[in-house]
Amino acid sequence: MGACTKLRDDTDLFWSGLQEGRLLFQQCRDCGLARFPFRMSCAGCGSVENDLVESVGGGVVYSCTRVERPLPPGFSEPYTVVLVEVEEGVRFLGLYDSEQEMPEIGTRVQAYVNPENGAPVSFRAESEPGKSGNG
Ligand SMILES: [Zn+2]
Repeated sequence: MGACTKLRDDTDLFWSGLQEGRLLFQQCRDCGLARFPFRMSCAGCGSVENDLVESVGGGVVYSCTRVERPLPPGFSEPYTVVLVEVEEGVRFLGLYDSEQEMPEIGTRVQAYVNPENGAPVSFRAESEPGKSGNG
């Protein structure tokens, strides 16, 4: 394979946002469509103009799965991964931080960002206040 030129890596902005404790997505400057994961152009209108928007982090569980095989360092298995649709309409993957093994689909959750716990983004059920998190 020949060498490729790295044109742009929009995901750097996502990861640096997490380092600041911010859960970011892109919003098209031309049509307003919210999008995540980060990509160069809008799937709605093709525009490459976008703004970075910080999610409020609140949303509902869209899907989930329980992982019972050993994976990367920092994870203690078994653990649950959730796909959460946040209020702004985009979906984020994250660790489900709960004593409960699996949430019901539609469970209200709140994101928190803690780069040091092995999962960049975690979600806990809104009915479980006081667990670890960003306060
Ligand atoms: Zn657009």
